[in-house]
Amino acid sequence: MDRLTSVHKFGGASVRDAEGVRNLARIISSLQSQRLLIVISAMGKTTNALESILFASQEGRSEEAMVEWNALEMRHLAICNELFPEGIPEDLQRALEAIGQRGQQMIGQTDATYDRAYDQMVGLGELFSTRIVSAFFAQNGLPNQWVDARDLIKTDSRHREAHVDWQTTEQNISNGLPEKGILVTQGFIASDPRGTTTTLGREGSDYSAAVFAYCLKAKKVSIWKDVPGILNADPKYFSDAVLLDRLSYDEAIELAYHGATVIHPRTIQPLKEKNIVLEVKSFRQPDSEGTRIEDGLTAPPTLPCFIRKSKQAFIQLHRKDLTFMAEEHLSAIYRIFDAHKTRVHLSAHSAVSSAFSIDQDLRILSSLEREFCPHFDVIIQTDLQLYTIRHYTEDSIKRIEKEGMTVHIQKSSATCQLLLKPHG
Ligand code: ASP
Ligand code: MG
Repeated sequence: MDRLTSVHKFGGASVRDAEGVRNLARIISSLQSQRLLIVISAMGKTTNALESILFASQEGRSEEAMVEWNALEMRHLAICNELFPEGIPEDLQRALEAIGQRGQQMIGQTDATYDRAYDQMVGLGELFSTRIVSAFFAQNGLPNQWVDARDLIKTDSRHREAHVDWQTTEQNISNGLPEKGILVTQGFIASDPRGTTTTLGREGSDYSAAVFAYCLKAKKVSIWKDVPGILNADPKYFSDAVLLDRLSYDEAIELAYHGATVIHPRTIQPLKEKNIVLEVKSFRQPDSEGTRIEDGLTAPPTLPCFIRKSKQAFIQLHRKDLTFMAEEHLSAIYRIFDAHKTRVHLSAHSAVSSAFSIDQDLRILSSLEREFCPHFDVIIQTDLQLYTIRHYTEDSIKRIEKEGMTVHIQKSSATCQLLLKPHG
């Protein structure tokens, strides 16, 4: 194993403006590794902006889409003007123009399916950001190679949530990169066997970093965030949240799986398999330790960990014909969820009924209801909050119960899940 590579992932918040890019360059200059692979997300809220442009365009509001597109291009240009006061380098200018043309061409086109068009449009954010960062590095003593992740990470054609073809990807990555130096690449995007851009799901750049690290047998992945690391709760809602300085892979998988948004849930498994250390730390305080996830830790965190998911819908299904809820019904139900690309965050079953909590999306809910109705009486409650407490205590449950009216509660030995209708 070479273990000469370290992978660093920088999210949108870290590169949202010119100062962010300068800070990123300072961090990279301070690192020592034979090969540094830097995985970058789209700048700031670019991905949301691109979603909105695509949506307007697909709804036939092309003019609106074009106005938003121009504003997005201007934001990138403004950052470049700050980063390159002597003038934007020519090759960067050309690269940005090419991305700009692609975006404009796509507006008003309605021949691709929504999900396919989504990946082509939304993937442009990472092309903008990596071109800019790579050019800035080059001008500031950090010679580097810009790498197109789509040439390396290969997936199926499940647009917006593509699945990695590990064998081809591993071959591409292990043969396709220089052994030394700084490499700058995109998170989130990949391509299918025909070369069409795919994406790995929202917030998927962490996962891209893990895919690269796995295939390169990296020694470490660092995810640089605007929080000090992984906390036992979201500090936005819990003023007493504390940093978890070390976690086992399994615990981190559980936290991410239940919705801790600090890391993408698919990120950890590949790292665990190759024993690659994962570090989550703050780009604002690069010298602070952050959270370290590695092998050999077995003790669970000594504090309860709270994960909060808002905007949940609770779907209760009761068999219409009073037969029992059997395996065949459950598998049919899950197939329907899967066809809607919907993840179930909580499920509960009794003899004649089942209940599920999912993210609330009104379009999907009405379609689900139509599909379930012929066989089940369907009750849907919306605007709920789901709390998952890992390593719960009675006090921690009481604390959450104060937030609203309990709609459902269930416990296993390590995890308690509470679905609440919030007060007010
Ligand atoms: N830019 C993408 C998103 O915002 C991917 C990522 O940031 O991880 O979802
Ligand atoms: Mg992002």
